[in-house]
Amino acid sequence: MPSTRSQRPIHAVIDLSALRHNLAIAKQTAQSTNPQAKILAVIKANGYGHGLLRVAAGLSQADGFGVLGLDEAVKLREHGYAQTILLLEGVFAPAELLVAAQRHISLVVHSSQQIDMLESASLPAPVSIFVKINTGMNRLGFTPENFSLALQRLNACHNVGQITLMTHFATADEEEGITAPLALFSQITQSLPYPISLANSAALLRYPATHSDWVRPGIMLYGSSPVAGVAAASFDLRPAMSFTSALIAVQTLNAGDSVGYGKCFTATRTSRVGIVACGYADGYPRHAPTGTPIAVAGQLTQTLGRVSMDMLFADITEIPQAEIGCAVELWGTQVPVDSVAQAAGTIGYELLCALALRVPVEVLE
Ligand SMILES: *Cc1c(COP(=O)(O)O)cnc(C)c1O
Repeated sequence: MPSTRSQRPIHAVIDLSALRHNLAIAKQTAQSTNPQAKILAVIKANGYGHGLLRVAAGLSQADGFGVLGLDEAVKLREHGYAQTILLLEGVFAPAELLVAAQRHISLVVHSSQQIDMLESASLPAPVSIFVKINTGMNRLGFTPENFSLALQRLNACHNVGQITLMTHFATADEEEGITAPLALFSQITQSLPYPISLANSAALLRYPATHSDWVRPGIMLYGSSPVAGVAAASFDLRPAMSFTSALIAVQTLNAGDSVGYGKCFTATRTSRVGIVACGYADGYPRHAPTGTPIAVAGQLTQTLGRVSMDMLFADITEIPQAEIGCAVELWGTQVPVDSVAQAAGTIGYELLCALALRVPVEVLE
């Protein structure tokens, strides 16, 4: 029987050696300040779009994993990962506590409702928790005023085992930095004997003072920069995902001819346009305007006109050898995902997470 598998040329390659390399950078950076620092690799959102189990394999040397859903945590346990696994928002309902306790899954505790759940549960073993303090993000966590009562309750709760204290910074990636929230955190937790977890990727790379017992890098592990305007390569990070396709048609435009929906780009000279087999249904951002970087036949060029569902346009006027079948890099080693994101008015995180299910993925061991 002939295969019905689509031969559409689009695919993503996940490079596990890049994940290993970026993890080593995170480890070196944290341990240069605190040799005891442990790495909680954040692999929520399906490993930032790379695939949960694929990234777990690449990051297997991490001391722990941070995920969102209990299902992801259980999947990691079922595949033999024995290190710390932290639910970054804790449990959403009492029923999740039993599974978490059985599987030795650690929980963020950010609200008094979650303490209620812990107090009324009947569990086979105590669970390790990370108590989240709100130092100005105003998203999750106990306020400085409510923290001490929360900690008192958790300390008294027989279902609570190891306690770690954490916060999450709102502006670690921006000019404002982390000085005020870090000072607040230190003041609240000063004389307490618990391990501490503070740093996301931006804090890890920019602020040694945040290299406490556990660091929590996410985006840097995938080789995308946590800091707008600073290239991932300047931190010696390597892209873990390369998203590629090929030209499936070539058009020649005369001056005055337009391409695509809305005729958003009109040629001012005789131009060659490559039609790329990739669109917003593959996860390419529809908001990427004319001028977004793209590589065709190994040469950097730009997109033209409006991205459609299954196709987009690349300017190949200056790439005369580009023909049907020619390789295209949407993002990867030649075109940083952060450059595409910047052109589209977003961040690398969103593009990586949005890689569509229909894109075939290959793993480079
Ligand atoms: C997502 C997340 C991280 C990782 O952030 P990056 O910016 O990707 O490094 C760290 N900590 C918490 C609590 C998170 O939710």
